[in-house]
Amino acid sequence: MLTKSDFLLYCEAPRHLWARIHGQLNSPVSAFDQHLIEQGYEIESLAREYLETILLPTCGNARILWQPTFSDGPYEARCDALVEETGPRSYDLYEIKSGTAIDKKNLYDIAFQASILVGQIRVDHFYLLHPNKEYTCQGSLDLARFFSVEEVTPKIMALLPEVETLRRAALAASQVADPASLAHCLAPKECPCPGVCHPALPDFSIYDIPRLSQQKKLALLAQGILQARDIPESFELNEKQREVARMAQTGQAHIDRPALRAELGKLVYPLYFLDYETCISAIPLFDGYHPQQQIVFQYSLHRMDQPGGETVHSGFISIDGGDPSIALLHHLSGDIGSRGTILVWNKAFEKARNTEMAELHPGYAAFLEDVNRRIYDLSDIVNQGYYLDPGFKGSWSIKNVLPAMVPALSYQGMSIHQGDQASLAWWAITFGHLDEDEIGQLTDHLAEYCQMDTLAMVEIYKKLNLACRL
Ligand code: SF4
Repeated sequence: MLTKSDFLLYCEAPRHLWARIHGQLNSPVSAFDQHLIEQGYEIESLAREYLETILLPTCGNARILWQPTFSDGPYEARCDALVEETGPRSYDLYEIKSGTAIDKKNLYDIAFQASILVGQIRVDHFYLLHPNKEYTCQGSLDLARFFSVEEVTPKIMALLPEVETLRRAALAASQVADPASLAHCLAPKECPCPGVCHPALPDFSIYDIPRLSQQKKLALLAQGILQARDIPESFELNEKQREVARMAQTGQAHIDRPALRAELGKLVYPLYFLDYETCISAIPLFDGYHPQQQIVFQYSLHRMDQPGGETVHSGFISIDGGDPSIALLHHLSGDIGSRGTILVWNKAFEKARNTEMAELHPGYAAFLEDVNRRIYDLSDIVNQGYYLDPGFKGSWSIKNVLPAMVPALSYQGMSIHQGDQASLAWWAITFGHLDEDEIGQLTDHLAEYCQMDTLAMVEIYKKLNLACRL
C-alpha cells in the first residue's frame, strides 16, 4: 500500500520515497524531533477536545469518527477526524496540524486523502484545524480562541487532478528497481539518502558554489563536471562564484581585504558579542505568548572595549519556572551600555526575538529597539563572500566557519553542542522534575555552550581583523 506519508515523501523528492521502500532512507529521529512529536500529540489531544466540546454541539446530531482508514486500490490514508452528518449521510474532514499556518505540504496531504475518499463517501468540506498564531495566552488556555479552523475545500478540489497524477507516479516510483530514472534535487545538503543520489559527492562540489542556478548546475553536470575545482574559466559565473571556484582549485581562503576593512570599519567600540538560547512551545506556557513562539531563556555576552583589548564575559540563564524573558531583560539591559555595536551571528533570529520580547514587555521596548538598531551580523562577512575558506564547505553556519578559521576552538567534546540540545536541556530543567544535582549539571552545560557561541564570534572577529592587516 502507498500511504499518505509515502505520498508526501514522493512530493518532497521521488528518490526519498524510493530510498524508504528500499531501506536506504536515513532519517533518524533526534531527541529534539521526539520533543516536537510529543508537542504534536498534545495539540492533537487538545484538537480532539475542541472538536468534541466546541464544534460538535453546533452540528446537530453529528458524530465524530476518529482516525478512520480508507483505501482505494493500492492507496491508503488515515484521516484525523471525520464529522458525520446524519440525514443525507455526508462528512466534513478535519486535518489537525500543530503549525500556525497552512503550507503547501498540508494541502497535498489533505488532497491525497480526498483522492481516496472521493467516490466512496460524500465529503462536503475539508478543514485544517491548527493553533491560531494571533492567540495570546492569558491565564488558562481558551480552546475556542486557541484553534483556527480554515476551510480549504476549493484548494483541495483544484489540486485533485494533479494529486491523481502524482499518486500514480509515486506508486510507479516505489516499484522501479533502479532509482536512476527518478528526479532528484540539485541542492544536496543534509541529504536523507546521499548514497542514492550522490554516492561519490566530492567535499567541494559545484553545489557549494553560492547561488548557482539550476540551469548552470545542469549545464555543468551535462559536461560531467561535479568537482568545483573542475569548472573551466570559460564557464560564466558571477564574481563571487568565480572566487569560490578558484578557492576550490587553490585550496586557499579568499579574502576581499578592501571590503573586509570597509565592513569592520563600520563597527563602533565597545563591541558586544551577543547570543540567545531559546525554546519553542506549541502551546503557550506563559501569559502574553502566542502558539509556537520562541521563549528566550538565556544569553551570553562578551564585551570588548577597545581594539585588541581583552573581553569581559557576562551571561544569564533563567531556570525558576516562570517566564524567563523578564529576568533576562533585567540583566541584559544592565550588561549592554548605551553605545557600541552589538555583534550576532544571524541577525534575523536575534532581532525577531527582541521584537517579540518588546511586545511582551513594553517597558523594555525602547532598549530592545535600540539593541536592534545597533546589531551587526558577523555572518554577513561570509555571506557576502568577503572572507571564504574551503573549510566552510559552502556554509555560513558558525559550526562550519569556526573550525576552519579558529581550529583551536571547538564544540567537540561539549555535553551540549547544538541549539536543539540547549532547548531540550532548558525544557528538562523547567518541566522535567529533576533533582538539584541534575539541574546544576545541565545549567553548567548550558552556560558553557552559550558562552562558546559568543567566544567563537570574538575569535572569528579577531581573525578577520588580522586578515585585514596582512
Ligand atoms: S540530492 Fe539529497 S536532498 Fe536532493 S533528492 Fe537526493 S538525497 Fe534528497
